[in-house]
Amino acid sequence: MTEFKPGTKALWSGEKEQLAYGATQVPVVHSVSFGYDDMDEWYEIATGQREGHIYGRNTNPTTQAFEDKVKDLEGAEAATSFATGMAAISNTLYTFLKPGDRVVTIKDTYGGTNKIFTEFLPRSQVEVVFCETGDHEEMEQEVAKGCEVVYIESPTNPTLKIIDIERMAKAAHEAGALVIIDSTFATPVNQNPLQLGVDLVLHSATKYLGGHSDALGGVVCGSQALIDQIYHYREINGATINPMGAYLLLRGMKTLHLRVERQNENAMKVAQYLKTVDWVEDVFYPGLEEHRGHDIAKRQMKGFGGMLSFSVNGGLETVNHLLPKMKLAKRAASLGCVQTIIGPPATTSHVECTPEERAAMGIPEGLVRYSAGIEDIDDLIGDLDQAFKSLPKELYV
Ligand SMILES: *Cc1c(COP(=O)(O)O)cnc(C)c1O
Repeated sequence: MTEFKPGTKALWSGEKEQLAYGATQVPVVHSVSFGYDDMDEWYEIATGQREGHIYGRNTNPTTQAFEDKVKDLEGAEAATSFATGMAAISNTLYTFLKPGDRVVTIKDTYGGTNKIFTEFLPRSQVEVVFCETGDHEEMEQEVAKGCEVVYIESPTNPTLKIIDIERMAKAAHEAGALVIIDSTFATPVNQNPLQLGVDLVLHSATKYLGGHSDALGGVVCGSQALIDQIYHYREINGATINPMGAYLLLRGMKTLHLRVERQNENAMKVAQYLKTVDWVEDVFYPGLEEHRGHDIAKRQMKGFGGMLSFSVNGGLETVNHLLPKMKLAKRAASLGCVQTIIGPPATTSHVECTPEERAAMGIPEGLVRYSAGIEDIDDLIGDLDQAFKSLPKELYV
């Protein structure tokens, strides 16, 4: 399916191999084990000499269809999947790191990822170096001192900073390090990091890939050799996605390109609208020309994504008044859903962190993260407008 465009791949990739009985849609195969009457066949499948399934912690036909679809969309040789995005991140890191190793990363990775770096990896004597997000020179200097893994995220959560992927991949490879990117915010429709030189691209499939906030999952794509190692770690440690979850994500992905195109458009229009609002102090969206990472984003992304954030005058108090007034935004964690989702970092992306930790990461308490849905744009802007107009004037400082 590599010859087709992303929209076509989203529909057709990975499915044909898993169809049976003339069905046109991939079944949810709930079976935990797969049995064989022929002993030779069983031995061959169990030892990996022949394709097939043995036990659900290892592989499953529905899950395989999901993995194959993401793999094709990222233009990768191989992919493996996980119960959640965090399982994809932690299993991937633990596959490659051992005591004495060094990781170079950025300050504003996803909150859960940050906890792995600050709390769990140091326990295993892995040194983690946090660079200012977007300071490419600092990262290059740290990478050149020697490291095993360079871990980046772009765009970042929740302030939408952009990392030059090609530049970081080059620096990592010069130092002999593996470069891993969390590309959740971009989706494979807007960004294909493997083509920019990274070794492994990760997604929280819970977000845009599934797109309906009804299933958890994670996925990592890369070369067969690297994915084999990660798969082995996951099959033993057991962070396997369940077949129903894989099915929901697979089903969601059939409209990935349509949803993301609309979300790109909606986010851009919301960002432009927010710039006209007195209450809004800063708008963070890589599609805006004045955004610090705009030029890099333009080079490495096909679309600027459906995520944006903005800070408001009056800080957290204004946020606390504004959000309950919104009718067309779910006040919830998560993102990338067909419906618009809104929330402050303190209850969403960085719920695991203390206010001090968030401040150190440059995340203002008066920030609102906005995940544009696929609603009609006039309604979204109208909703924001009525919410801003309802704010008590005395909050304005
Ligand atoms: C949500 C998210 C994760 C974690 O994914 P889960 O599926 O919730 O475990 C990782 N990275 C980013 C950028 C995310 O938004």
